[in-house]
Amino acid sequence: MTSITSFHPPVRTLMGPGPSDVNPRVLEALARPTIGHLDPAFVGMMDETKELLKYAFQTENKLTMPVSAPGSAGMETCFSNLIEPGEKVIVCQNGVFGGRMKENVERCGGVAVMVEDAWGTAVSVDKVEAALKANSDAKIVAFVHAETSTGVVSDAQALVALAHQHDCLTIVDAVTSLGGSPLKVDEWDIDAIYSGTQKCLSCTPGISPVSFNERAIAKIQNRKTKVQSWFMDLNLVMDYWGSGGQRSYHHTAPVNALYGLHESLVILQEEGLEKSWDRHVANHEGLKAGIEAMGLSFFVAEEDRLPQLNAIQFPEGTDEAKVRSELLNRYSLEIGAGLGPMAGKIWRIGLMGFASNQKNVLHCLGALDAVLSEMGADIQSGKAVSAAMKVFS
Ligand SMILES: *Cc1c(COP(=O)(O)O)cnc(C)c1O
Repeated sequence: MTSITSFHPPVRTLMGPGPSDVNPRVLEALARPTIGHLDPAFVGMMDETKELLKYAFQTENKLTMPVSAPGSAGMETCFSNLIEPGEKVIVCQNGVFGGRMKENVERCGGVAVMVEDAWGTAVSVDKVEAALKANSDAKIVAFVHAETSTGVVSDAQALVALAHQHDCLTIVDAVTSLGGSPLKVDEWDIDAIYSGTQKCLSCTPGISPVSFNERAIAKIQNRKTKVQSWFMDLNLVMDYWGSGGQRSYHHTAPVNALYGLHESLVILQEEGLEKSWDRHVANHEGLKAGIEAMGLSFFVAEEDRLPQLNAIQFPEGTDEAKVRSELLNRYSLEIGAGLGPMAGKIWRIGLMGFASNQKNVLHCLGALDAVLSEMGADIQSGKAVSAAMKVFS
């Protein structure tokens, strides 16, 4: 057998649906010395991380913390704690992640009532209202704020208000919105929310920030049945992440990964949340000008577009997988393919967190232009970069 040596990954520019480029300050933080997870110094950092997460989520919720696993585990934490067997949940689906919500509801013993919208369109508030009227026994409404599979934002504030009019709690997927698009947990009165670190927080993958308000906590504390997952049972995790008092051992926190999250949240606080939201829009505008100058178009209607996830339709007959592999191999640039029914139909260009900058926009447009022109695709060659530069100047 050949001897295996250290792994040195290539340096890439990550402009897919996540992970996105990690800020070098975060990578540096990850390399700091590991200490015990009950060390007072670590506990102090945990408390700061919770404060920083409250800022990112715009909430005063006491139960705001990082789950020690990726965004999918934050999703499971919300569903497994809030749903009791037999309960009806309205699940909105307009892309891949709504389908995963349905899976979660059913695995928790709940009954999912699906409200489906076409991929590439926002969740219809009217359809959700009709579903709530037809299902007066529903207990929860669950939806994806920023659907990464299509690049669509839905009206979280309106959906939550509607759910509350019908005495339902809300579970919101904010994996791709947190840090990238306006999200106000307290003002919008969201009950339970989960996110991820590897999208607009510019941190490494593997952690899932979550937040629960008093209404959600009351439901969890008054469950008739035990949460079926021991690891995700918030009744137990709360003693570990709770502030003040004795912290009891629950699991070993991913110590260094949390240094990284702490640093990424410090960076977000230094920039300012609103400034970060504005930066995501400004860089999207540059990309859009370049994409349109090239003669390509967006898959999603302008008013429903996420600035951090751009779904692009490519010219008819393009070998789209070849384009992506050329971008990766020659320009070390990663963009995303379509997921599920969108496979082979769109590219997903992420402009998330640290990766949302003018350099990346120009790099991506220039590289796409070069690869498509060389392959003889039907595009306007040589126009994209200057169109974006005009927006940026
Ligand atoms: C990425 C993503 C997830 C899953 O997060 P992982 O960290 O990959 O587990 C869930 N929901 C949405 C909307 C996402 O974009």
